[in-house]
Amino acid sequence: MTVNEHPHPDSPESEDVESFRLRARAWLADNMPLLSADAPQVSSSELDQRVVDRARVLQRRLFDGGFAGLVFPKEYGGQGLTPAHQHAFNEETVGYEMPTFFNIPTLSIIAPTLLEFGTEDQKRRYIEGILRGDELWVQFLSEPTGGSDLAGAVTRAERDGETWVLNGAKTWSTFAIFCDYAMCLARTDWDATKHGGLTMFLMKIDQPGVDVDWIKQSNGVRDFCQEFFTDVCLDSDAVIGDVNGGWAVASGLLNHERASGGGSWYAHDGGGARVDVAEDNLVDLARKLDPADAHHLDLLGEAHTLRMVHRQVSARVSAGIQTGHYPDAAGALLRMSIGLLGARRATIGMELAGSSSVGWRPDDPTSQYGNDYLFRQAHCLGGGSTEMQRNIISERLLGMPRERSEDRDRPFRDVPRTDR
Ligand SMILES: Cc1cc2nc3c(=O)[nH]c(=O)nc-3n(C[C@H](O)[C@H](O)[C@H](O)COP(=O)(O)OP(=O)(O)OC[C@H]3O[C@@H](n4cnc5c(N)ncnc54)[C@H](O)[C@@H]3O)c2cc1C
Repeated sequence: MTVNEHPHPDSPESEDVESFRLRARAWLADNMPLLSADAPQVSSSELDQRVVDRARVLQRRLFDGGFAGLVFPKEYGGQGLTPAHQHAFNEETVGYEMPTFFNIPTLSIIAPTLLEFGTEDQKRRYIEGILRGDELWVQFLSEPTGGSDLAGAVTRAERDGETWVLNGAKTWSTFAIFCDYAMCLARTDWDATKHGGLTMFLMKIDQPGVDVDWIKQSNGVRDFCQEFFTDVCLDSDAVIGDVNGGWAVASGLLNHERASGGGSWYAHDGGGARVDVAEDNLVDLARKLDPADAHHLDLLGEAHTLRMVHRQVSARVSAGIQTGHYPDAAGALLRMSIGLLGARRATIGMELAGSSSVGWRPDDPTSQYGNDYLFRQAHCLGGGSTEMQRNIISERLLGMPRERSEDRDRPFRDVPRTDR
């Protein structure tokens, strides 16, 4: 199934959206905790095991109540409903604490990729594990040699009888230390072309030969991990898609990743609420400073305009992809919009907060804007950099000539590389 395909067209036997909404409203009131200021948040710089454990409990609660994986097929543990049901559910969940740690990448990127490329056994085994809240996933794609040139991966998997032996390193994997499984892209044929010799594997993270370390960022926060693989054994049924067909799987995965920027119908919410909260925080900050300051008002106006534009882009592109009016590559517009919005908002926050944002005083909330500023460039990198999105937009949406590439058509073994 591609992003363009509607997962479950409305069928007469499925519950209509309004009765579903009422049922969901009653169930949420009886079962889910209200969002409180001290509920552990995914975006908090204090993210720790508590957030993860809490997310697993809440995801399990949704599963047991019949509200997990609304658009996933019933045979894989889902509810077999439509994106309209998911949308209604998301609206009803406002104000409740939801297991958003499962959203990215587990529910919105990994699970749909398994649905699209996994074998029947993989789908039955792993999608239900995700929906039940038992298993969190991460993507092992980027390597120390670079993340933009994903097809240039040099982590290798070699066949040894019925198993594969994996060696190499991955980096920038978000919260990998808390995850159970990964999708890992590895080179399996060095005589094939760059894109033709890759295979996607699913792998358990807690196993011999896998070392996972935190990366500490310049703002003192730990969001990312790096992994080192030494003779990791993977069974033959760990291959997702075809052997040496990993580029198709990676491309599908990236389509889901870019599309998730507009709010994935596979996940609990679209992230729109987070943008609203960030803007409300900026307004509160400006009020505390000098509410009449003309420059502050200009900055707030700009932040508001950016959000409104992003909302429109997001609604239009998401609808375009879902209905098939836009190709999957249009997700690059969403990714770019999110990147530019996030980076500019971080700069606006810093400019409003002024010198107090560099104070690093934990009891002063304005110091958060200094942290956000140090993280600002990440908005333009995660899920593929904004420059790469511009390449996709120009080549795949506007039909401009492909970027020149010297390494595309020759055996990867002969491509000059920096890792040797
Ligand atoms: C918040 C966040 C979460 C992430 N989570 C994960 C994760 O879970 N798993 C994972 O595998 N990775 C993850 N990443 C890594 C992310 O995918 C990479 O940062 C991204 O693909 C860019 O790769 P790089 O950082 O190695 O930069 P490079 O690829 O080295 O690029 C450096 C700069 O050069 C530019 N550039 C490179 N090639 C071109 C080109 N052909 N044309 C124009 N400009 C170019 C890039 O745009 C960038 O600005 C995450 C990153 C962030 C910030």
